[in-house]
Amino acid sequence: MHSVEQIQKMPVVAPATGKVIAEIEETPLHEVPLFYQQGRKAFIGWSGLSIAERLQYFKKLKQLMVDEMDEIARIVSEDTGKVLTEAIVADIMPTLDAMDHIIRHASKILSRQKVKTPLLLIGKKSFIEYMPRGVVLVISPWNYPLQLAMVPMLSALAGGNSVILKPSEVTPLVGKCIQDLFKRSGFPAGTVQVAHGGKEVGAAFTEGKPDYIFFTGSVRTGKIIQQQAAKDLIPTTLELGGKDPMIVFSDADLERAAKAAAWGAFTNSGQVCMSAERLYVERPIYGRFLELLKHEVRSLNQGTNEDADVGSMTFPAQKEVVKAQLDEALARGAKLETGLKPSEWKDGMFLPPTIVTQVEQDMKIIQEETFGPLLPVVPFDNEDEAVGLANGTVYGLNASVWTKDKAKARRVASQLVTGAVVINDVIITVANHGLPFGGTKESGIGRYHSEAGLRIFCHEKAIMEDMGLMKSEIQWYPYKGKYPLFLNLFKNYFSEKKNWLAFAKNYLALLKNNK
Ligand code: ADP
Repeated sequence: MHSVEQIQKMPVVAPATGKVIAEIEETPLHEVPLFYQQGRKAFIGWSGLSIAERLQYFKKLKQLMVDEMDEIARIVSEDTGKVLTEAIVADIMPTLDAMDHIIRHASKILSRQKVKTPLLLIGKKSFIEYMPRGVVLVISPWNYPLQLAMVPMLSALAGGNSVILKPSEVTPLVGKCIQDLFKRSGFPAGTVQVAHGGKEVGAAFTEGKPDYIFFTGSVRTGKIIQQQAAKDLIPTTLELGGKDPMIVFSDADLERAAKAAAWGAFTNSGQVCMSAERLYVERPIYGRFLELLKHEVRSLNQGTNEDADVGSMTFPAQKEVVKAQLDEALARGAKLETGLKPSEWKDGMFLPPTIVTQVEQDMKIIQEETFGPLLPVVPFDNEDEAVGLANGTVYGLNASVWTKDKAKARRVASQLVTGAVVINDVIITVANHGLPFGGTKESGIGRYHSEAGLRIFCHEKAIMEDMGLMKSEIQWYPYKGKYPLFLNLFKNYFSEKKNWLAFAKNYLALLKNNK
């Protein structure tokens, strides 16, 4: 705990080089109520703007990010250890694309929608309105520190909420960069606030009674947050981990699938909730496919330069998770196909892209999220077995199915208990902002992106309008003499063989009775 006077400074270490590159002031815990006060004050003005007015700020922000794309990519790359190409393709692009999507569609998605009114309620009109919730707390992780913070922030802001972001302490420079971008785009004071610090700061904000919590991170922390939120009945979205299977059938384009497996498993050093973490290959092509994959993986170029393919790990503790999983697998007889034993790893944060075979379904490497450059490869004999293996973990975020047989691909996709499936590609559903994003089972609760992703940050309000011209309604008091009329009315209305004449007669009789 920090005293009122003390301001803690967090050193920022570049994972790829180990060098301290900056210092960030941690938000003192006693300031948490102040953040909420400012957020609530700003909410009044921000929610009072029309959606079109709010989107004007989005346009400024988007242009600023376009102008400074290279600078932002370098901050993301330095703070995470990911290569520049991945910073721009997988962190900046999805953020800009989400902004584009929101700018184009938010007005329609969030404005009042007319809903049909049934005949029984004749004379009334029905609508849904989307009312912002208030102050939304976004807690974000370190693997895609830009998009996984900014996309929920923008989605919440579009609906009229103010936002407090608590970015990951592992990548605080990106958090600072986001704060700076919103400020320079002229968002009104207090509309977007960024709090810096680790889990204590995150926990203090969670306890500060936000109106919604949007969390992306580990299953462990997600469960803690959900418990805290339950105490105050705060709604949440939880975007958690994955152990995504890739299923390759014999009739797939094997060259393409091998390239996809290498990229899907090792992009961002495997620190992707949707990375391919288990590869299931149909037995007749298992040997050939493994050779193609090893060839791909051996040609990868690790480093920090502009042409590098694979960067470093971001979070030192994650290295230990990878090590523990690999050690257990090797101790139980698994075989290294590429990469090194953990005891042979070099110091620093670069881990070799590692392919492992001869693994068992109950090993950690199959059951637990790795979030590192480790890919177990397992043969299977038929479609049912592949589906069973793929569904055999507590996770269900994304998956991929590889075959030229469209019917088989769709059949398998339908049986996978996941939030998304990609056919003959990997990960890519996340790049279409029009599709929902989220998990089943322990991969999370809720969806964002798409229409739902804007509407979750609003209360859906049902509205019915009546001109108020009639003195009374048929279902109001007094009930005298109404029962037989209602009985006949509903029998004729709900019956498969409707008698509209009888319906009208009873309705008119009820109206007459309606004094
Ligand atoms: P990851 O290892 O993917 O970063 P975490 O779940 O540890 O996953 O962290 C994700 C985010 O949650 C980070 O911003 C972190 O500071 C924050 N966090 C960690 N623990 C808590 C907690 N108990 N309450 C609120 N936020 C937390």
